[in-house]
Amino acid sequence: MIRKISDIFKEKEKTLGFEFFPPKTSKGLLKLYETALLLKDLQPDYCSVTYGAGGSTKDKTMEVVDELQKRFGLPVMHHLTCNCHTITEIKQMLNSMQKRNICNVLALYGDLPQDESICAENKREMQYCYELCKILKSYRDYFCVAVAGFPCGHISSPDRDTDIEYLKIKLESGGDFVITQLFFDNAVYFDYLERLKKVNIHVRVIPGILPIVNYEKMIKFCADCGVIVPKKVHEIFKPIVDDEEATKKAGIDFAVQQCRELLDGGACGLHFFTLNKVDPTREIIRQLREDK
Ligand SMILES: Cc1cc2nc3c(=O)[nH]c(=O)nc-3n(C[C@H](O)[C@H](O)[C@H](O)COP(=O)(O)OP(=O)(O)OC[C@H]3O[C@@H](n4cnc5c(N)ncnc54)[C@H](O)[C@@H]3O)c2cc1C
Repeated sequence: MIRKISDIFKEKEKTLGFEFFPPKTSKGLLKLYETALLLKDLQPDYCSVTYGAGGSTKDKTMEVVDELQKRFGLPVMHHLTCNCHTITEIKQMLNSMQKRNICNVLALYGDLPQDESICAENKREMQYCYELCKILKSYRDYFCVAVAGFPCGHISSPDRDTDIEYLKIKLESGGDFVITQLFFDNAVYFDYLERLKKVNIHVRVIPGILPIVNYEKMIKFCADCGVIVPKKVHEIFKPIVDDEEATKKAGIDFAVQQCRELLDGGACGLHFFTLNKVDPTREIIRQLREDK
């Protein structure tokens, strides 16, 4: 029996989650299952599998979620975006998920695919993620629903407070908890929690952690989605931009420090964007557990 992540919250103050993406090739898929097997030894509470922009990994995501659940008996959260699907398509997918015992979903609006032809105009029946949350909730509480939160603000929001108002609508429409976009400045996360409390949002807000392995790719990603990169991150990683090993080591050191501060400050867990790699995530957790 696969558990809802919200039920795990009733027993655990802090949770550990690993995010994967569905690989394009069968070789990549085998590698992912090897990676997941090694990371399973770290006893995560759940894993999650992303959904390609515009539904480009529709079948793959469900296949990987299903397989990981069967192999490891862990709750695996299915990311699901609604921007390029009709309501009928979404309901068909949710019915398939129920048949496969997939009861944890990260509900998202989604990014537009690079190839916009994938996302035909007539498929755009939903405008925002809260509409997907409502559909998920109509399944008589079958699904535990996570939604995305943006401590630095969402790139297309007018400001951070308006963004929080929209987050509140997502939660009132069926979201059970929040997983954040990556950030590097913990003060931004803790300030976000304070601002959420002021508008009576009291659900868990799990920080999303990206261990830096490639400075240039990280900078581009952050620019695309509006994540602020603090000066100290540039100062550490820019001078070693061409040194892969040094970057990986500095990335581990930075993430260990960041996670320590988050956990000590009361964060309710960690959600790692693993990039389908065993390390650096495994090494970061090893060092964090040495602290105890
Ligand atoms: C942890 C995490 C995992 C992710 N995984 C994936 C993935 O697997 N696949 C993928 O394609 N993308 C993924 N994303 C990216 C996400 O889809 C994009 O950031 C997307 O642009 C926003 O999604 P959302 O669900 O927050 O959308 P929404 O909540 O709909 O917000 C989108 C924009 O609309 C605004 N808005 C929201 N509600 C309203 C409203 N009621 N009225 C007016 N404006 C409103 C928001 O402020 C925001 O600017 C992920 C993001 C995170 C943080």
